[in-house]
Amino acid sequence: MAEYTTLRAGGKAEALIDVRTIAELSTLVKWLTAQGIVSRVLGQGSNILVPEQGYPGVLIRLRGEIQSLSCRPTKDDGTVVVRAGAGCAMSSVVSWCTRNGLSGLEFLVGIPGSVGGAVWMNAGAWGHETGERLEQIVMVDRGGSLVHVPAKRLLFSYRQLAWQDGDLDGMTIVSADFVVCPGGEQSIRERCRGYLERRKAKQPKGVASAGSFFKNPPGDSAGRLIDAAGLKGFTIGGAMVSPVHANFIVNTGGATAVEIIGLMEVVQEKVYQRFGVRLEPEVQILQG
Ligand SMILES: Cc1cc2nc3c(=O)[nH]c(=O)nc-3n(C[C@H](O)[C@H](O)[C@H](O)COP(=O)(O)OP(=O)(O)OC[C@H]3O[C@@H](n4cnc5c(N)ncnc54)[C@H](O)[C@@H]3O)c2cc1C
Repeated sequence: MAEYTTLRAGGKAEALIDVRTIAELSTLVKWLTAQGIVSRVLGQGSNILVPEQGYPGVLIRLRGEIQSLSCRPTKDDGTVVVRAGAGCAMSSVVSWCTRNGLSGLEFLVGIPGSVGGAVWMNAGAWGHETGERLEQIVMVDRGGSLVHVPAKRLLFSYRQLAWQDGDLDGMTIVSADFVVCPGGEQSIRERCRGYLERRKAKQPKGVASAGSFFKNPPGDSAGRLIDAAGLKGFTIGGAMVSPVHANFIVNTGGATAVEIIGLMEVVQEKVYQRFGVRLEPEVQILQG
């Protein structure tokens, strides 16, 4: 999976299947469920690591009509609903909104990944999270049926999505409706530029990573703890704790998943020994 993930590392999946319509996706998911084959969606692979021993199932990529973007007319309260296919790049949604003078998703600028990935991970930055802008999502369940879920039935927490009415395991998000507001195009562009500049100043450049590797523990920052444990620049093979931002594990070239997971465990152990805090990875390590 090195070719398909931003960490540029990882073992093999049994299969990688592209679907181009919701009907194709439903048929595939239903069949996989009947066969007892595990599956998962691969978005843009910016928060995923497949261990060296591989993922014993199917990774599904959402293409074609599941990458579309449309806009519903302005509602009475002046807001606009943008429906984005889960396979669409979140950056395309942000640029589209900017070009059309629609404000609300600027905080997501510079976060790589798909719409489905942003919703699943409740991606966020600068004090905002994806969940706060959602009106509803549409999913395909394990039996291949479409399920419409209003945002009020979803539970959004730090980098996590849950559903009040069931288990999300095996569910595939196919689209998300975002509520945005008309705003001046120029001020939206300026906000985006500001966020991008702050991002550039804080994050390592030109190296493969999955962004922040660990979740921040309550009331603290994973980067601060890793830095204070003296781990900036610590290396196992091609995997390194970034000297620029301690919560980034970077692939300096040719790192294997074994090296990245090995480094993750060293960081967890050292931070635990020093501060009694067990860091949890934000990166999804696909175990099957
Ligand atoms: C340089 C860099 C900076 C980053 N900065 C941030 C940041 O500021 N804030 C932040 O929150 N994250 C950040 N990230 C992490 C990452 O970009 C986000 O989590 C992103 O939303 C993941 O989207 P993806 O499409 O790449 O998902 P993937 O990595 O492909 O998948 C992540 C998880 O979502 C699931 N998933 C994806 N799509 C679907 C779907 N349609 N239905 C069901 N499940 C799905 C996958 O199965 C997997 O469990 C950063 C990453 C990088 C590389």
